[in-house]
Amino acid sequence: MIVMKFGGTSVEDAKSIQTVIKIVQKEQSRRPVVVLSAIAGATNTLLKAARTAQEGNLNEAVKLLNDLLDRHVTVMENLIDNRATVQRLIASFKPHFEELRNLCHGIAILGELTNRSLDAIASMGELLSSQILCEAMCSQGISAKWIDARTFIKTDDQFACAAPLFDEINTKAKEILSPILESKTIVITQGFIGSNSKGITTTLGRGGSDYSASIIGAALDAEEIQIWTDVDGVLTSDPRIAPTAQKLRIISFREAAELAYFGAKVLHPSTIFPAVKKDIPVVVLNSKRPENKGTRIVSRPPKTNIPVKSIACKRGITVVNVQSLRMLMAYGFLESIFSVFNKYETSVDLVSTSEVAVSLTIDNTSKLDKIIEELSTFAEVSVLEKQGIICIVGDQMRSTAGVANQIFHALREINLVMISQGASEINMSIVIDESQIDQAVKNLHKHFFETDLDSNMFEPVGGK
Ligand code: ADP
Ligand code: ASP
Ligand code: MG
Repeated sequence: MIVMKFGGTSVEDAKSIQTVIKIVQKEQSRRPVVVLSAIAGATNTLLKAARTAQEGNLNEAVKLLNDLLDRHVTVMENLIDNRATVQRLIASFKPHFEELRNLCHGIAILGELTNRSLDAIASMGELLSSQILCEAMCSQGISAKWIDARTFIKTDDQFACAAPLFDEINTKAKEILSPILESKTIVITQGFIGSNSKGITTTLGRGGSDYSASIIGAALDAEEIQIWTDVDGVLTSDPRIAPTAQKLRIISFREAAELAYFGAKVLHPSTIFPAVKKDIPVVVLNSKRPENKGTRIVSRPPKTNIPVKSIACKRGITVVNVQSLRMLMAYGFLESIFSVFNKYETSVDLVSTSEVAVSLTIDNTSKLDKIIEELSTFAEVSVLEKQGIICIVGDQMRSTAGVANQIFHALREINLVMISQGASEINMSIVIDESQIDQAVKNLHKHFFETDLDSNMFEPVGGK
């Protein structure tokens, strides 16, 4: 079997959904499980409605929801010819929107918005888009069955960023999905959403549909996990920053994991891990140009001598500097620092140390005040906000001399706040002021990817 995940822009309107149907139909013999995102912008609208309600503006929140319902109705009407089917679908959507309005009503009264309520609201986007796709396929005579992902994507209780419970998912996914696939029926399910042990809706965090796809792929031992999106594959950089970005034909799991972790939005940061465990290739494809072969992400791509493959970047980073002369030559300094971050469940991305000082980067600052307070009991602490990380990635960086020199030369006019070579030596991460991120990516891209590219590895965007 294979998993085919389609992102929001792949299901933004009736025409795109019809293209998705064609793409899935072509793969029917490979027994696909289709994992769908909400239609483009729907999750943002749902979250905005919830926040608007919290601010006490219930009328505006309800208007946002009504507009969203209208958008779904337009998609259905343009996609499905059979009037009765459309009417039935609209009727089945009405209670969902009633529930959304009730949730917003409660939020407006209490003025309080919990992550649990956010998940209940945000999950609706995927539930609706997947029902539309399934009805459209069935009305075109394709054997497809809609399955609620919450029945088999079991998670812990961390609403808004739930962690999957792999053992339970493996058992349940096999139990629920395998018989359907064996009967040659296509499974249509949702990305992003799951449920906890009590059956309450959770989500895997923004962009989590990619993760859902790889979790399902690993649970069912898929032969391939396809991530269909709006670009040709994994590119040498975010094309919105470097418009001449090229497509990479093939990269390793390790390269993809680093890129995703350091901000390449094309893949959710956790996507690669379930695939690595089962050694399942992940293929990133463009639903607007399905003839393109995309980027294959595999455990061992053919060896090349290309040191740098891609540049990722992440904004909204905070640097925490911790300094203590008392700690000079003392052991346990790092442990005491990390235990504070640990205690406040704040993950640290980059670390750089000297004899008496440690600099760390975090992107979640919700507990920063408490962290500073506690660190200040044994060290001097200073904080640098509005920073960004540039991450330069390539498997061969570790065996190629002079790459760092080229990176620093390309960034010679930019003040570097922190430099860190990843322990795996396949990436170098540099912290700079957020306002200089675009310029830095452009400079690096120009140096590494705008001349003499090996066509076995790189392909201009728009090619076959
Ligand atoms: P989807 O809705 O299909 O999940 P996303 O918007 O989450 O799509 O991810 C695709 C986007 O990721 C692209 O449109 C592109 O702008 C951005 N992106 C950032 N870095 C990269 C990269 N290295 N390669 C490809 N796309 C990237
Ligand atoms: N719809 C969700 C989001 O916008 C999940 C996804 O698209 O991956 O974050
Ligand atoms: Mg995405």
